[in-house]
Amino acid sequence: MQENQIIIIGAGPAGLMAAQILAEKGFKVHVYEQNKAAARKFLVAGNGGFNLTHSEELDSFIQKYEDIEIQNMVIEFDNKKVVEWLSNLGITTYIGSSGKIFPTKNFKPIQVLKAWLDRLEELGVNIHYENTFLDFDDSLIYFKNNSGDFSVKYSKLILAMGGGSWKKTGSDAKWVETLTKKNITIIPLQSANSGYNTPEKFHSLQGQYLKNIKVSFGNQEKIGEIVFTKYGIEGSPIYYMNRYTRKHDFPLMLHIDLKPNLSETDILEQLKGNSKISSVLKRNLKLSTTAINVLKTLDKESYLDIENLAKTIKKFPIEILSFRPIDEVISTAGGVAFSELNSQLELKDFPNVYCAGEMIDWEAPTGGYLLQACFSTGVFVANSIVNS
Ligand SMILES: Cc1cc2nc3c(=O)[nH]c(=O)nc-3n(C[C@H](O)[C@H](O)[C@H](O)COP(=O)(O)OP(=O)(O)OC[C@H]3O[C@@H](n4cnc5c(N)ncnc54)[C@H](O)[C@@H]3O)c2cc1C
Repeated sequence: MQENQIIIIGAGPAGLMAAQILAEKGFKVHVYEQNKAAARKFLVAGNGGFNLTHSEELDSFIQKYEDIEIQNMVIEFDNKKVVEWLSNLGITTYIGSSGKIFPTKNFKPIQVLKAWLDRLEELGVNIHYENTFLDFDDSLIYFKNNSGDFSVKYSKLILAMGGGSWKKTGSDAKWVETLTKKNITIIPLQSANSGYNTPEKFHSLQGQYLKNIKVSFGNQEKIGEIVFTKYGIEGSPIYYMNRYTRKHDFPLMLHIDLKPNLSETDILEQLKGNSKISSVLKRNLKLSTTAINVLKTLDKESYLDIENLAKTIKKFPIEILSFRPIDEVISTAGGVAFSELNSQLELKDFPNVYCAGEMIDWEAPTGGYLLQACFSTGVFVANSIVNS
Protein backbone atom coordinates (compact mmCIF):
# COMPACT_ATOMS: atom_id res chain seq x y z
CA MET A 1 0.00 0.00 0.00
CA GLN A 2 1.45 3.38 -1.05
CA GLU A 3 1.54 6.36 1.32
CA ASN A 4 0.90 10.07 0.81
CA GLN A 5 -1.12 9.73 -2.31
CA ILE A 6 -3.54 12.18 -3.82
CA ILE A 7 -6.47 10.14 -5.00
CA ILE A 8 -9.21 11.40 -7.27
CA ILE A 9 -12.40 9.42 -7.74
CA GLY A 10 -14.00 9.91 -11.15
CA ALA A 11 -12.30 10.51 -14.51
CA GLY A 12 -14.81 13.10 -15.69
CA PRO A 13 -14.00 16.72 -16.58
CA ALA A 14 -13.83 17.85 -12.92
CA GLY A 15 -11.60 14.99 -11.76
CA LEU A 16 -9.29 15.14 -14.78
CA MET A 17 -8.90 18.91 -14.47
CA ALA A 18 -7.95 18.58 -10.79
CA ALA A 19 -5.49 15.83 -11.77
CA GLN A 20 -3.83 18.01 -14.40
CA ILE A 21 -3.36 21.03 -12.12
CA LEU A 22 -1.96 18.90 -9.30
CA ALA A 23 0.38 16.96 -11.60
CA GLU A 24 1.64 20.20 -13.13
CA LYS A 25 2.53 21.32 -9.62
CA GLY A 26 4.57 18.15 -9.13
CA PHE A 27 2.11 16.07 -7.11
CA LYS A 28 1.75 12.35 -7.71
CA VAL A 29 -1.89 11.79 -8.64
CA HIS A 30 -3.95 8.63 -9.00
CA VAL A 31 -7.42 8.73 -10.56
CA TYR A 32 -9.79 5.83 -9.93
CA GLU A 33 -12.61 5.33 -12.41
CA GLN A 34 -15.28 2.65 -12.46
CA ASN A 35 -15.61 2.59 -16.25
CA LYS A 36 -13.22 1.02 -18.74
CA ALA A 37 -12.56 4.47 -20.20
CA ALA A 38 -12.45 8.10 -19.08
CA ALA A 39 -15.02 10.87 -19.39
CA ARG A 40 -17.87 9.08 -21.10
CA LYS A 41 -20.38 11.81 -20.24
CA PHE A 42 -17.96 14.40 -21.58
CA LEU A 43 -18.02 12.52 -24.89
CA VAL A 44 -21.82 12.25 -24.81
CA ALA A 45 -21.93 16.04 -24.36
CA GLY A 46 -20.06 16.19 -27.67
CA ASN A 47 -22.77 14.34 -29.58
CA GLY A 48 -24.91 17.35 -30.37
CA GLY A 49 -22.01 19.85 -30.75
CA PHE A 50 -19.19 19.91 -28.23
CA ASN A 51 -19.72 23.22 -26.53
CA LEU A 52 -17.04 23.47 -23.90
CA THR A 53 -17.78 26.94 -22.58
CA HIS A 54 -19.44 30.18 -23.69
CA SER A 55 -17.95 33.45 -24.91
CA GLU A 56 -20.30 35.64 -22.86
CA GLU A 57 -18.75 38.51 -20.85
CA LEU A 58 -17.89 37.36 -17.34
CA ASP A 59 -20.39 39.68 -15.57
CA SER A 60 -23.37 38.07 -17.24
CA PHE A 61 -21.67 34.65 -17.53
CA ILE A 62 -21.57 34.18 -13.77
CA GLN A 63 -25.25 35.07 -13.45
CA LYS A 64 -25.92 31.64 -14.92
CA TYR A 65 -24.97 30.22 -11.51
CA GLU A 66 -27.06 30.92 -8.45
CA ASP A 67 -24.36 30.07 -5.93
CA ILE A 68 -21.78 32.70 -5.12
CA GLU A 69 -19.24 29.93 -4.41
CA ILE A 70 -19.47 28.65 -8.00
CA GLN A 71 -19.50 32.19 -9.38
CA ASN A 72 -16.21 32.92 -7.61
CA MET A 73 -14.59 29.73 -8.88
CA VAL A 74 -15.71 30.53 -12.42
CA ILE A 75 -14.22 34.02 -12.06
CA GLU A 76 -10.90 32.45 -11.01
CA PHE A 77 -10.81 29.98 -13.89
CA ASP A 78 -13.05 31.58 -16.49
CA ASN A 79 -14.09 30.95 -20.09
CA LYS A 80 -10.93 32.62 -21.44
CA LYS A 81 -8.81 30.30 -19.33
CA VAL A 82 -10.70 27.28 -20.69
CA VAL A 83 -9.88 28.41 -24.23
CA GLU A 84 -6.24 28.93 -23.22
CA TRP A 85 -6.12 25.50 -21.60
CA LEU A 86 -7.55 23.90 -24.76
CA SER A 87 -5.04 25.77 -26.87
CA ASN A 88 -2.23 24.42 -24.68
CA LEU A 89 -3.54 20.94 -25.47
CA GLY A 90 -3.32 21.83 -29.16
CA ILE A 91 -7.10 22.20 -29.53
CA THR A 92 -8.22 25.27 -31.46
CA THR A 93 -11.67 26.70 -30.81
CA TYR A 94 -14.25 28.95 -32.46
CA ILE A 95 -17.26 30.91 -31.25
CA GLY A 96 -20.53 29.70 -32.76
CA SER A 97 -23.36 32.03 -33.75
CA SER A 98 -25.00 31.69 -30.32
CA GLY A 99 -21.77 32.59 -28.51
CA LYS A 100 -21.01 28.99 -27.53
CA ILE A 101 -17.38 27.92 -27.79
CA PHE A 102 -16.60 24.72 -29.71
CA PRO A 103 -13.42 22.95 -30.80
CA THR A 104 -12.77 23.71 -34.49
CA LYS A 105 -14.31 21.18 -36.86
CA ASN A 106 -11.06 19.26 -37.31
CA PHE A 107 -11.25 18.13 -33.66
CA LYS A 108 -13.84 15.50 -32.83
CA PRO A 109 -14.76 15.10 -29.12
CA ILE A 110 -12.71 11.91 -28.91
CA GLN A 111 -9.65 13.79 -30.22
CA VAL A 112 -10.09 16.51 -27.59
CA LEU A 113 -10.26 13.83 -24.91
CA LYS A 114 -7.26 11.99 -26.35
CA ALA A 115 -5.16 15.16 -26.36
CA TRP A 116 -6.11 15.69 -22.71
CA LEU A 117 -5.40 12.10 -21.66
CA ASP A 118 -2.06 12.18 -23.51
CA ARG A 119 -1.09 15.32 -21.58
CA LEU A 120 -2.09 13.68 -18.29
CA GLU A 121 0.02 10.66 -19.15
CA GLU A 122 3.01 12.90 -19.92
CA LEU A 123 2.48 14.51 -16.53
CA GLY A 124 2.58 11.09 -14.86
CA VAL A 125 -1.11 10.92 -13.83
CA ASN A 126 -2.15 7.31 -13.29
CA ILE A 127 -5.73 6.45 -14.20
CA HIS A 128 -6.88 3.15 -12.73
CA TYR A 129 -9.90 1.97 -14.71
CA GLU A 130 -12.58 -0.48 -13.63
CA ASN A 131 -12.23 0.27 -9.93
CA THR A 132 -15.38 1.28 -8.11
CA PHE A 133 -15.18 3.52 -5.08
CA LEU A 134 -17.19 2.15 -2.17
CA ASP A 135 -16.34 4.25 0.89
CA PHE A 136 -13.58 6.01 2.79
CA ASP A 137 -12.47 6.60 6.36
CA ASP A 138 -9.88 9.00 7.72
CA SER A 139 -6.95 7.26 6.02
CA LEU A 140 -8.22 4.59 3.62
CA ILE A 141 -10.41 4.44 0.54
CA TYR A 142 -12.31 1.23 -0.14
CA PHE A 143 -12.78 -0.06 -3.68
CA LYS A 144 -14.00 -3.10 -5.53
CA ASN A 145 -12.92 -4.46 -8.88
CA ASN A 146 -13.11 -7.74 -10.76
CA SER A 147 -10.58 -9.30 -8.41
CA GLY A 148 -12.43 -8.33 -5.23
CA ASP A 149 -12.32 -5.60 -2.60
CA PHE A 150 -9.21 -3.61 -1.70
CA SER A 151 -8.22 -0.38 0.02
CA VAL A 152 -5.80 2.44 -0.76
CA LYS A 153 -4.23 4.91 1.65
CA TYR A 154 -4.65 8.59 0.84
CA SER A 155 -3.28 11.89 2.02
CA LYS A 156 -5.83 13.93 0.06
CA LEU A 157 -8.97 12.61 -1.58
CA ILE A 158 -11.02 14.40 -4.26
CA LEU A 159 -14.51 13.09 -4.93
CA ALA A 160 -15.58 13.97 -8.49
CA MET A 161 -18.20 11.33 -9.24
CA GLY A 162 -20.65 13.51 -11.18
CA GLY A 163 -24.42 13.94 -10.97
CA GLY A 164 -27.09 11.31 -11.47
CA SER A 165 -28.23 11.53 -15.09
CA TRP A 166 -27.23 9.17 -17.91
CA LYS A 167 -26.23 6.34 -15.57
CA LYS A 168 -24.86 4.36 -18.49
CA THR A 169 -21.95 6.86 -18.66
CA GLY A 170 -20.87 5.72 -15.18
CA SER A 171 -22.35 8.62 -13.20
CA ASP A 172 -24.71 6.44 -11.21
CA ALA A 173 -24.81 8.63 -8.08
CA LYS A 174 -24.29 5.63 -5.78
CA TRP A 175 -22.12 8.00 -3.76
CA VAL A 176 -25.33 9.66 -2.49
CA GLU A 177 -26.06 6.67 -0.25
CA THR A 178 -22.43 6.36 0.89
CA LEU A 179 -22.14 10.04 1.87
CA THR A 180 -25.63 10.15 3.41
CA LYS A 181 -24.62 7.29 5.73
CA LYS A 182 -21.74 9.51 6.87
CA ASN A 183 -24.30 12.19 7.84
CA ILE A 184 -23.23 14.45 4.99
CA THR A 185 -26.22 16.48 3.82
CA ILE A 186 -27.02 15.74 0.19
CA ILE A 187 -29.65 17.93 -1.46
CA PRO A 188 -31.79 15.37 -3.35
CA LEU A 189 -30.75 15.05 -7.00
CA GLN A 190 -33.35 16.42 -9.38
CA SER A 191 -33.67 16.68 -13.14
CA ALA A 192 -31.95 19.76 -14.59
CA ASN A 193 -31.74 20.90 -18.21
CA SER A 194 -34.84 18.81 -18.46
CA GLY A 195 -37.84 18.83 -20.74
CA TYR A 196 -41.29 19.10 -19.20
CA ASN A 197 -44.23 16.75 -19.37
CA THR A 198 -47.37 18.51 -20.60
CA PRO A 199 -51.06 17.54 -20.88
CA GLU A 200 -51.96 15.17 -23.70
CA LYS A 201 -53.52 17.82 -25.92
CA PHE A 202 -50.01 18.96 -26.91
CA HIS A 203 -48.67 15.47 -27.63
CA SER A 204 -50.10 15.44 -31.16
CA LEU A 205 -47.65 18.26 -31.97
CA GLN A 206 -44.74 15.82 -31.53
CA GLY A 207 -41.75 16.68 -33.72
CA GLN A 208 -42.89 20.25 -34.49
CA TYR A 209 -40.60 23.21 -33.72
CA LEU A 210 -41.42 26.74 -32.60
CA LYS A 211 -38.55 29.05 -33.57
CA ASN A 212 -37.86 32.62 -32.39
CA ILE A 213 -40.41 32.46 -29.64
CA LYS A 214 -40.13 33.80 -26.09
CA VAL A 215 -40.81 31.54 -23.13
CA SER A 216 -41.68 33.19 -19.83
CA PHE A 217 -42.21 32.10 -16.26
CA GLY A 218 -42.84 34.83 -13.67
CA ASN A 219 -40.41 37.60 -14.51
CA GLN A 220 -38.00 35.24 -16.31
CA GLU A 221 -37.95 35.34 -20.12
CA LYS A 222 -35.91 33.44 -22.69
CA ILE A 223 -35.96 33.66 -26.46
CA GLY A 224 -35.13 30.57 -28.51
CA GLU A 225 -36.48 27.44 -30.09
CA ILE A 226 -38.57 24.67 -28.56
CA VAL A 227 -39.71 21.32 -29.86
CA PHE A 228 -42.84 19.37 -28.96
CA THR A 229 -42.27 15.73 -28.06
CA LYS A 230 -44.47 12.73 -27.42
CA TYR A 231 -44.64 13.73 -23.76
CA GLY A 232 -44.20 17.52 -23.72
CA ILE A 233 -41.63 20.15 -24.62
CA GLU A 234 -37.85 20.46 -24.86
CA GLY A 235 -35.40 23.17 -25.88
CA SER A 236 -32.93 25.62 -24.41
CA PRO A 237 -35.52 28.22 -23.19
CA ILE A 238 -37.27 25.32 -21.44
CA TYR A 239 -34.05 24.14 -19.78
CA TYR A 240 -33.32 27.72 -18.75
CA MET A 241 -36.62 27.84 -16.82
CA ASN A 242 -35.84 24.66 -14.81
CA ARG A 243 -33.98 26.59 -12.14
CA TYR A 244 -36.96 28.90 -11.56
CA THR A 245 -39.78 26.36 -11.81
CA ARG A 246 -37.93 24.13 -9.35
CA LYS A 247 -38.90 26.51 -6.55
CA HIS A 248 -42.62 25.90 -7.18
CA ASP A 249 -44.97 22.94 -7.05
CA PHE A 250 -46.22 21.30 -10.23
CA PRO A 251 -48.50 21.70 -12.10
CA LEU A 252 -47.61 25.22 -13.13
CA MET A 253 -47.93 27.45 -16.14
CA LEU A 254 -45.31 28.58 -18.65
CA HIS A 255 -46.22 31.16 -21.29
CA ILE A 256 -45.05 31.39 -24.87
CA ASP A 257 -44.95 34.60 -26.87
CA LEU A 258 -45.48 33.31 -30.40
CA LYS A 259 -44.75 36.70 -31.98
CA PRO A 260 -42.15 38.50 -29.83
CA ASN A 261 -41.57 41.28 -32.39
CA LEU A 262 -45.17 42.51 -32.51
CA SER A 263 -47.25 44.07 -29.74
CA GLU A 264 -50.67 42.76 -28.77
CA THR A 265 -52.18 45.97 -30.24
CA ASP A 266 -50.48 45.43 -33.59
CA ILE A 267 -51.64 41.82 -33.67
CA LEU A 268 -55.21 42.84 -32.82
CA GLU A 269 -55.18 45.46 -35.60
CA GLN A 270 -54.32 42.77 -38.11
CA LEU A 271 -56.96 40.40 -36.77
CA LYS A 272 -59.61 43.14 -37.04
CA GLY A 273 -59.25 43.19 -40.84
CA ASN A 274 -61.85 41.47 -42.98
CA SER A 275 -59.88 38.34 -43.80
CA LYS A 276 -60.40 34.93 -42.21
CA ILE A 277 -58.50 34.41 -38.96
CA SER A 278 -56.43 31.55 -40.40
CA SER A 279 -55.35 33.66 -43.34
CA VAL A 280 -54.34 36.63 -41.07
CA LEU A 281 -52.32 34.30 -38.88
CA LYS A 282 -50.51 32.87 -41.87
CA ARG A 283 -50.22 35.79 -44.33
CA ASN A 284 -50.28 38.97 -42.26
CA LEU A 285 -48.73 37.79 -39.00
CA LYS A 286 -46.56 35.19 -40.73
CA LEU A 287 -46.99 32.70 -37.92
CA SER A 288 -45.44 29.30 -38.61
CA THR A 289 -47.61 26.25 -39.20
CA THR A 290 -46.58 24.96 -35.76
CA ALA A 291 -47.58 28.24 -34.07
CA ILE A 292 -50.98 28.04 -35.81
CA ASN A 293 -51.33 24.39 -34.75
CA VAL A 294 -50.55 25.45 -31.18
CA LEU A 295 -53.32 28.08 -31.34
CA LYS A 296 -55.70 25.44 -32.70
CA THR A 297 -55.40 23.56 -29.40
CA LEU A 298 -57.57 26.37 -27.96
CA ASP A 299 -61.27 25.72 -27.73
CA LYS A 300 -63.25 27.11 -30.66
CA GLU A 301 -64.74 30.03 -28.75
CA SER A 302 -61.34 31.29 -27.53
CA TYR A 303 -59.84 30.89 -31.01
CA LEU A 304 -62.60 32.90 -32.67
CA ASP A 305 -62.56 35.73 -30.10
CA ILE A 306 -59.96 37.97 -31.75
CA GLU A 307 -59.18 40.02 -28.64
CA ASN A 308 -58.54 36.84 -26.73
CA LEU A 309 -56.58 35.43 -29.66
CA ALA A 310 -54.27 38.49 -29.81
CA LYS A 311 -53.61 38.14 -26.08
CA THR A 312 -52.98 34.43 -26.42
CA ILE A 313 -50.54 34.86 -29.31
CA LYS A 314 -48.47 37.01 -26.94
CA LYS A 315 -48.98 34.79 -23.92
CA PHE A 316 -49.94 31.25 -24.84
CA PRO A 317 -50.33 29.21 -21.64
CA ILE A 318 -48.73 25.76 -21.48
CA GLU A 319 -49.41 23.70 -18.43
CA ILE A 320 -46.34 21.93 -17.10
CA LEU A 321 -46.95 18.71 -15.20
CA SER A 322 -43.44 17.58 -14.20
CA PHE A 323 -39.78 17.28 -15.17
CA ARG A 324 -38.57 14.34 -17.25
CA PRO A 325 -36.99 11.38 -15.40
CA ILE A 326 -33.48 12.02 -14.04
CA ASP A 327 -31.75 9.36 -16.11
CA GLU A 328 -32.57 10.98 -19.44
CA VAL A 329 -31.81 14.64 -18.64
CA ILE A 330 -28.58 16.52 -19.33
CA SER A 331 -27.63 17.23 -15.72
CA THR A 332 -28.85 17.09 -12.15
CA ALA A 333 -29.44 19.80 -9.60
CA GLY A 334 -28.79 18.94 -5.96
CA GLY A 335 -25.77 17.14 -4.54
CA VAL A 336 -23.36 17.73 -1.69
CA ALA A 337 -24.71 20.77 0.20
CA PHE A 338 -22.42 23.80 0.33
CA SER A 339 -23.06 23.87 4.08
CA GLU A 340 -21.02 20.63 4.27
CA LEU A 341 -18.00 22.19 2.55
CA ASN A 342 -15.55 24.77 3.78
CA SER A 343 -14.27 27.58 1.59
CA GLN A 344 -11.73 25.14 0.06
CA LEU A 345 -14.45 22.65 -1.03
CA GLU A 346 -13.21 20.32 1.70
CA LEU A 347 -15.80 18.35 3.67
CA LYS A 348 -16.03 20.04 7.06
CA ASP A 349 -16.43 16.74 8.92
CA PHE A 350 -13.83 14.88 6.86
CA PRO A 351 -10.60 16.85 6.60
CA ASN A 352 -8.53 16.11 3.47
CA VAL A 353 -11.60 15.01 1.51
CA TYR A 354 -12.73 17.44 -1.19
CA CYS A 355 -15.58 17.56 -3.71
CA ALA A 356 -15.64 18.88 -7.29
CA GLY A 357 -17.90 19.01 -10.33
CA GLU A 358 -21.54 18.17 -10.77
CA MET A 359 -21.79 16.18 -7.55
CA ILE A 360 -21.90 19.48 -5.61
CA ASP A 361 -25.26 21.24 -5.22
CA TRP A 362 -25.30 23.75 -8.09
CA GLU A 363 -26.99 23.90 -11.44
CA ALA A 364 -26.50 25.78 -14.68
CA PRO A 365 -28.07 25.89 -18.12
CA THR A 366 -26.55 24.11 -21.12
CA GLY A 367 -24.46 26.24 -23.43
CA GLY A 368 -21.08 25.34 -21.94
CA TYR A 369 -21.92 26.56 -18.44
CA LEU A 370 -22.00 23.06 -16.96
CA LEU A 371 -18.60 22.02 -18.25
CA GLN A 372 -17.16 25.42 -17.35
CA ALA A 373 -18.19 24.95 -13.70
CA CYS A 374 -16.83 21.39 -13.69
CA PHE A 375 -13.47 22.65 -15.01
CA SER A 376 -13.47 25.59 -12.58
CA THR A 377 -14.27 23.50 -9.51
CA GLY A 378 -11.60 20.99 -10.56
CA VAL A 379 -9.01 23.76 -10.78
CA PHE A 380 -10.20 25.27 -7.50
CA VAL A 381 -9.98 22.07 -5.51
CA ALA A 382 -6.53 21.30 -6.92
CA ASN A 383 -5.30 24.77 -5.94
CA SER A 384 -6.82 24.31 -2.48
CA ILE A 385 -4.67 21.21 -2.05
CA VAL A 386 -1.58 22.89 -3.51
CA ASN A 387 -1.99 25.75 -1.02
CA SER A 388 -2.91 23.58 1.98
C1 LIG B 1 -26.56 14.40 -23.19
C2 LIG B 1 -25.68 15.38 -22.48
C3 LIG B 1 -25.31 16.55 -23.11
C4 LIG B 1 -24.52 17.50 -22.44
N1 LIG B 1 -24.19 18.64 -23.08
C5 LIG B 1 -23.45 19.57 -22.44
C6 LIG B 1 -23.09 20.76 -23.10
O1 LIG B 1 -23.38 20.95 -24.27
N2 LIG B 1 -22.39 21.70 -22.40
C7 LIG B 1 -22.04 21.51 -21.10
O2 LIG B 1 -21.41 22.38 -20.51
N3 LIG B 1 -22.34 20.36 -20.46
C8 LIG B 1 -23.04 19.39 -21.10
N4 LIG B 1 -23.37 18.24 -20.45
C9 LIG B 1 -23.05 18.10 -19.01
C10 LIG B 1 -21.61 17.70 -18.71
O3 LIG B 1 -21.21 16.63 -19.55
C11 LIG B 1 -21.51 17.31 -17.23
O4 LIG B 1 -21.97 18.37 -16.44
C12 LIG B 1 -20.08 16.95 -16.84
O5 LIG B 1 -19.63 15.83 -17.58
C13 LIG B 1 -19.97 16.65 -15.35
O6 LIG B 1 -18.62 16.46 -15.07
P1 LIG B 1 -18.12 15.76 -13.72
O7 LIG B 1 -16.66 15.57 -13.87
O8 LIG B 1 -18.64 16.48 -12.55
O9 LIG B 1 -18.84 14.34 -13.71
P2 LIG B 1 -18.99 13.14 -14.87
O10 LIG B 1 -18.63 13.70 -16.18
O11 LIG B 1 -20.32 12.62 -14.61
O12 LIG B 1 -17.85 12.18 -14.41
C14 LIG B 1 -17.90 11.44 -13.20
C15 LIG B 1 -17.06 10.18 -13.34
O13 LIG B 1 -17.05 9.51 -12.08
C16 LIG B 1 -17.16 8.12 -12.31
N5 LIG B 1 -17.73 7.50 -11.10
C17 LIG B 1 -18.96 7.69 -10.57
N6 LIG B 1 -19.12 6.93 -9.47
C18 LIG B 1 -17.95 6.25 -9.31
C19 LIG B 1 -17.51 5.30 -8.34
N7 LIG B 1 -18.30 4.89 -7.33
N8 LIG B 1 -16.26 4.80 -8.46
C20 LIG B 1 -15.43 5.19 -9.47
N9 LIG B 1 -15.82 6.07 -10.43
C21 LIG B 1 -17.06 6.61 -10.34
C22 LIG B 1 -18.08 8.01 -13.50
O14 LIG B 1 -17.94 6.78 -14.16
C23 LIG B 1 -17.62 9.20 -14.35
O15 LIG B 1 -16.61 8.82 -15.26
C24 LIG B 1 -24.11 17.25 -21.10
C25 LIG B 1 -24.47 16.06 -20.47
C26 LIG B 1 -25.24 15.13 -21.15
C27 LIG B 1 -25.63 13.84 -20.45
